[in-house]
Amino acid sequence: MRLPGFIVLIWALASCASPRSLNFADNKTVAHRGAWKKDTLPQNSIASLRKAIALKAAGSEFDVRMTKDEVLVINHDPLYAEDTIELKTYAELSQHKLKNGEKLPTLEDYLRAGSKHNTSTRLVVEVKPSIVDKTQGVRAAEKAVAVVRGLKVENRVVYISFDYAILKRIHAMDPKAITQYLTGDKTPAELKADGISGADYHLSVYRKNPGWIGQLKKDGMILNAWTVNTAEDMDWLLDQGFDFITTDQPELLLERVKIRQSAASGK
Ligand code: MG
Repeated sequence: MRLPGFIVLIWALASCASPRSLNFADNKTVAHRGAWKKDTLPQNSIASLRKAIALKAAGSEFDVRMTKDEVLVINHDPLYAEDTIELKTYAELSQHKLKNGEKLPTLEDYLRAGSKHNTSTRLVVEVKPSIVDKTQGVRAAEKAVAVVRGLKVENRVVYISFDYAILKRIHAMDPKAITQYLTGDKTPAELKADGISGADYHLSVYRKNPGWIGQLKKDGMILNAWTVNTAEDMDWLLDQGFDFITTDQPELLLERVKIRQSAASGK
């Protein structure tokens, strides 16, 4: 059966109008670079990701950078073992192990590990801007989308970035991808106009622009704040009805959320 063209067009528009809804744990807790602090694991290690999954955190965040030979690796700083990641090959970099003996994880390794025995934790992919050439950051984003597609884990990932061009490229490649902007210099209206799914701003940005909280909610956009490590700040954000809070202290936030959920259900 052939569908009339206008029906196909309406279907196509509807299918790319809104981001995917992911079905993971409902505890607002995004472990920042995995859950590393309590067990002194290396940040961004697969061990820290596994710990976040074991805690059933709603998300585990990690940082993606691209090597000279265009392998995507997981590391926060632009340098790894004193080498600039973008100027070295993966073979060169991976001669140095993480402190727990793991090899430097690739994005593929990380997504595979995050897809095993995991029904709780979305994988929050931060694509870092290039320190060498802005276009290389966008190139890394294109490769990240390709890796996610290749592993068929679109329904597990959220993309975040400080570089707006990176998020716009991801949105163009995959209009249903969930994208959240980190820098805090765009209004909710600007994000919405560009098809970005939500804000993931530093806590101080929301304190300075409290009106943005209501606006983002009204527009059905995702409200996320980083990096929130005190119970006082966590409680303020929970009072404001944030969807997600990114923290180095996932155990503490899980406890704060649990206290509220128990109070709400009268237990
Ligand atoms: Mg990060």
